[in-house]
Amino acid sequence: MSTKNFDVVVIGGGPGGYIAAIRAAQLGYNVACVDEWKNEKGGPAPGGTCTNVGCIPSKALLQSSEHFEHAGHHFADHGISLDNLKIDIAKMVGRKDQVVKQNNDGILYLFKKNKVTFFHGRGSFVGAKDGVYELKAGDETVTAKHVILATGSNARQLPGAEFDEELILSNDGALRIPAVPKKLGVIGSGVIGLEMGSVWRRLGSEVTILEAMPAFLGAADEGVAKEAAKIFKKQGLDIQLSVKISKVTKGKSDVTITYTDAKGAEQTLVVDKLIVSIGRVPNTIGLNPEAVGLTLDERGAIVVDEECKTNLPNVWAVGDVVRGPMLAHKAEEEGVAVAERIAGQHGHVNFNTIPWVIYTSPEIAWVGKTEQQLKAEGVAYKAGQFPFLANGRARALGDTTGFVKFLADAKTDEILGVHIIGPFASELISEAVVAMEFKASAEDIARICHAHPSLSEATKEAALAVDKRTLNF
Ligand code: FAD
Repeated sequence: MSTKNFDVVVIGGGPGGYIAAIRAAQLGYNVACVDEWKNEKGGPAPGGTCTNVGCIPSKALLQSSEHFEHAGHHFADHGISLDNLKIDIAKMVGRKDQVVKQNNDGILYLFKKNKVTFFHGRGSFVGAKDGVYELKAGDETVTAKHVILATGSNARQLPGAEFDEELILSNDGALRIPAVPKKLGVIGSGVIGLEMGSVWRRLGSEVTILEAMPAFLGAADEGVAKEAAKIFKKQGLDIQLSVKISKVTKGKSDVTITYTDAKGAEQTLVVDKLIVSIGRVPNTIGLNPEAVGLTLDERGAIVVDEECKTNLPNVWAVGDVVRGPMLAHKAEEEGVAVAERIAGQHGHVNFNTIPWVIYTSPEIAWVGKTEQQLKAEGVAYKAGQFPFLANGRARALGDTTGFVKFLADAKTDEILGVHIIGPFASELISEAVVAMEFKASAEDIARICHAHPSLSEATKEAALAVDKRTLNF
């Protein structure tokens, strides 16, 4: 078989990799992307964790379960009655699989459109000679001057509770539970644990979330985390903090978790399924980094500088496999920036304006600094908050939980952080991201005309609240 030569070879077809490949192709390079993810028929399924077992399928199930919850609990308020409400889990999961497939197919179409050569299979280093890298791409051998590594991450295993995807589930198994478990345990109250816990609680599971840390949602603003804890408890999610897991035992059709609670008392929890969501580890399995001397850190992440350059000339790495937040949009931005740097342009990723979103209900989203961070850094700031309870559109929607909170520099009024808990927080946060990227002040947002009635008026009002002049509260 003859060797195919490319300007750029991207290993990994998740959001970091496929976007990098497309951008490099747009810039005129001859590009290949290698991805090994298989669909259930063994065919290609580009899109990585995000498309196959992450962002997209989780949001599909969140949507289905939210419809179910609304139909069961909220439709009556609108005068809509439903008798004999039922959920067909197989159909719900089938719809989710269809959504995933549409995304897989979409990426294959984009590769074609942008003339990116796609190889289905494993990509690995063979060696390097005269500034050219030799790689395996599935069964083929390819060469490239530039290599972009975007091999993503895998779910972290809890020692003694290895995933079998039947009883002890990673994100993968959690997205294809065939029937509503009566009792569901979740270890880890991060984004994935909360989202998956919410899906199955809405569908009828009794959900217990066990968290090792003493603080709930430690990365979020304290005010938001407190509000979220209150709401989730009211919804019926049992979230236990400061828990120490001592043993996980698998039965025939259940799992027993023995743990010490916050008071130091030994507890036993028996569940039908256990989701373990205690973080993710960078993935370089099969990449053969030794062949070229690629440097990894003690966590197994590929070491890169602020421009995503590895220790090897013209080898770059982006996304979950490098430092920084494990988020799809962060991976994408790095992918674009690297392709542009290869082309001699000045691609940039602003880590200060990367938004965070948790797709529970209410949704939680933020950008920039939290109040506790500003306090710890000794930054003088002003805060302004506006509740959705005072927003006309939220009242019409029938969802008035939460608030928008602005944090602005006490002297310059520059926006330092925006925190939202409430309806469509995932969409509302974009305005704050744009504002912060342009270094806007709270006054700038306060003076911009926002459509009425819209949830975004709560954003404007929170900006007004920074100067203590809300109009509707
Ligand atoms: P990945 O998406 O992991 O893609 C890596 C790809 O490389 C995979 O296809 C893998 O098969 C392939 N690969 C690896 N090694 C090789 C090799 N040697 N040869 C060939 N192919 C290889 N992020 C968000 O921003 N928003 C969300 O709502 C969100 N929800 C999530 C929900 C869940 C349940 C999970 C698990 C994650 C979620 N994430 C979310 C995180 C998001 O999925 C990741 O940050 C994102 O997928 C990282 O992209 P990536 O391109 O770095 O890696």
